[in-house]
Amino acid sequence: GEYTLQRESEFAWRIDPTGKMRVPGVVYADESLIEGMDDKVFEQLANVASLPGIVQAAYAMPDAHWGYGFPIGGVAAFDPDEGGVVSAGGVGFDISCGVRCLRTGLTVDDIEPHKKKLADQLYKHIPVGVGSTGRIHLNDKGMQGMLRGGARWAVEQGFGNPEDLEHIEERGCMAGADPAEVSDRARKRQQDEMGTLGSGNHYLEVQRVAEIYDRNTAAAFGLQVDDVVIFIHCGSRGLGHQIGTEFLKYMVLAASQHKIELPDRELACAPINSELGQAYLGAMRAGINCALANRQIITHLTREVFADVLPKADLTLLFDVSHNTCKVEAHRVQGGERKLYVHRKGATRAFGPGHPEIPETLRAVGQPVLIGGSMGTESHVLVGTEQGADLSFHSACHGAGRAMSRHQASKQWRGRSLVDELAERGIQIRSPSMRGVAEEAPGAYKDVRAVVDAAEKAGLARKVARLEPHVCVKG
Ligand code: 5GP
Ligand code: MN
Ligand code: MN
Repeated sequence: GEYTLQRESEFAWRIDPTGKMRVPGVVYADESLIEGMDDKVFEQLANVASLPGIVQAAYAMPDAHWGYGFPIGGVAAFDPDEGGVVSAGGVGFDISCGVRCLRTGLTVDDIEPHKKKLADQLYKHIPVGVGSTGRIHLNDKGMQGMLRGGARWAVEQGFGNPEDLEHIEERGCMAGADPAEVSDRARKRQQDEMGTLGSGNHYLEVQRVAEIYDRNTAAAFGLQVDDVVIFIHCGSRGLGHQIGTEFLKYMVLAASQHKIELPDRELACAPINSELGQAYLGAMRAGINCALANRQIITHLTREVFADVLPKADLTLLFDVSHNTCKVEAHRVQGGERKLYVHRKGATRAFGPGHPEIPETLRAVGQPVLIGGSMGTESHVLVGTEQGADLSFHSACHGAGRAMSRHQASKQWRGRSLVDELAERGIQIRSPSMRGVAEEAPGAYKDVRAVVDAAEKAGLARKVARLEPHVCVKG
């Protein structure tokens, strides 16, 4: 492209509008992250900035890498009153993929002697891998209830408890879901996949709190050094993928009818105020509910395993946050408040202190932001900031971000030797696919510390705690 990337401050870089761009592109990163970023990220950001009705800027988070149409780690908000659009590629195919963090009430000394058994039992009990199926088989009524009710439905079915719901975005149930827009094919793919992790990058990890950066916030989150916590990372499985695939196709086909000129067909989108745009939003929200229900069921399965292996454990939910969504949010833009459709693709919502959508028990300090690193490196808990509102519509990074492709990684590492090396460092990995493990090698990801430091210094979120992995069940 014709764009040029200019340094605006130590942790912000800017692409001024050229050609068809309506707003600037902004990347939050330090110099070395910028140098490591594929130029494709900047090109994709410039393309996103040219979509109808985009507001303020197209943003890339410090973990950004090249994605389908929109970069992963991309944030873009659209105003329906200015012809704003919704984009299936801007949400991503794993609709509402996200992370939840559970406290366990255990310390590292409690789990150390039982780690192998814990790993084996989690691996045995929680379905994982390509096409894995669970013990739940949804009939039409169950499917309908799940698509509308999300984690609330899962709790009604006996998976977990009502307190869990307080600590999930949308209180566990995304409003505005329209099951009628979810195709038979999408339903069929999901019928037997509830309560399954999926493959590749998805995981269930048992971690130790290794360091606290912010005492007060950590106390409010109920985290102390040596505490054991659990991250569960997965999404909406076959259902989300099918919704994304179908609507992408419809959006490509309808673009000319909507008079939308696509800089890249992967950016296919539809006006928010169109039948297709509304249909997608209805289906996508049903996909969000699927992911929320899925993580809720996996939480229940995890509790069953802990009750068996470490009966004194008490698994409570710190927070559940999605990183592939489009959400309607009120934001201040140029002095006025507007209702915007905020796309976050591989980006985490990061509301600051006092935000009304944060659970009451956490509201004073801000929303937990959960950042995975890799199965062999640290992960982080951050908290949203006030200034995040103006910087990125309250958004932050979602992980370390890939530094190389899966294909490259699978050539560079062997799964078996990675598993052995990690075991020597006290990290128990269980996975059905050694190729998958190689693709997910810690070295295939960026330096997560550099990413969270950049997020903090840019003002997007503040570091609260560093976690280290002990057991990882990997897709
Ligand atoms: P994505 O949602 O884009 O697939 O991945 C989110 C992030 O999770 C990645 O950028 C990566 O940093 C992180 N991640 C991937 N695998 C693992 C894992 O096994 N454990 C942890 N803690 N993080 C991971
Ligand atoms: Mn995912
Ligand atoms: Mn994800």
